[in-house]
Amino acid sequence: MPEANIQEIFSSIQGEGPYVGCRQIFIRFTGCNWQCAYCDTPVKPAESFPMEKTPGLRDFITISNPVTPESLSKLCNGYQLTLHHSVSLTGGEPLLHKDFIKELIPLISGTERGIFLETNGTMPESLRHLIDELSIISMDIKLRSSTKIDTPWELHGEFLKIAAKQDVYVKLVISDNTEEEEVSRAAVMVKRAAPNSALILQPVTSTNGVLAPSVQQVLKLQEIALRELTNVRVIPQTHRMMGQL
Ligand code: SF4
Repeated sequence: MPEANIQEIFSSIQGEGPYVGCRQIFIRFTGCNWQCAYCDTPVKPAESFPMEKTPGLRDFITISNPVTPESLSKLCNGYQLTLHHSVSLTGGEPLLHKDFIKELIPLISGTERGIFLETNGTMPESLRHLIDELSIISMDIKLRSSTKIDTPWELHGEFLKIAAKQDVYVKLVISDNTEEEEVSRAAVMVKRAAPNSALILQPVTSTNGVLAPSVQQVLKLQEIALRELTNVRVIPQTHRMMGQL
């Protein structure tokens, strides 16, 4: 039976993208296959993880790693699934745990929309393995100007074509260094692979020397993307404004 190391589990409000404000159960997996310069997510496995015992009360208890799909689903049983919009599988990169997730999904049904995957969009074959079980996909395009790593354009394009089978939106984290050419290329890619999906420009929350873009930069980058797509929105990380997890 597959096992996974978890970083945290809690109930909160989705703070990013077009589903901002929706109540979700967040299952944060440990480990990532990317190394973004602005990343503030610990990626090394810990011996244990905090889990909110009662949704919304922040009464965290400590659970030992690793967990199995069955043990994790039992932990989530008291989570009033029907009051939640969806279960967000996030990370790290959750697709590193595709076999675990495949077994977990049927055990945690009951939310309004099912499974919401937050991914860096670099593992198309793992997505293919799970696509029929997913409901909503939040896919990042990893721009070199923010991550300091070359953008994997081919992987992203392949990933988005598979993701287009479900409800997918694409997120670009933009910084003061984001180049107009990068945003233009991303918009063209979305137009070709999933023309009905929204493109979200998310100004980075300044960290590790990566700075947020100016108001003028944001407006210019949105204008460039709007030349290719009709649904281009600027949405910052609202959970940080609200002091939510
Ligand atoms: S993809 Fe996400 S978790 Fe992975 S390094 Fe980048 S910001 Fe961190």
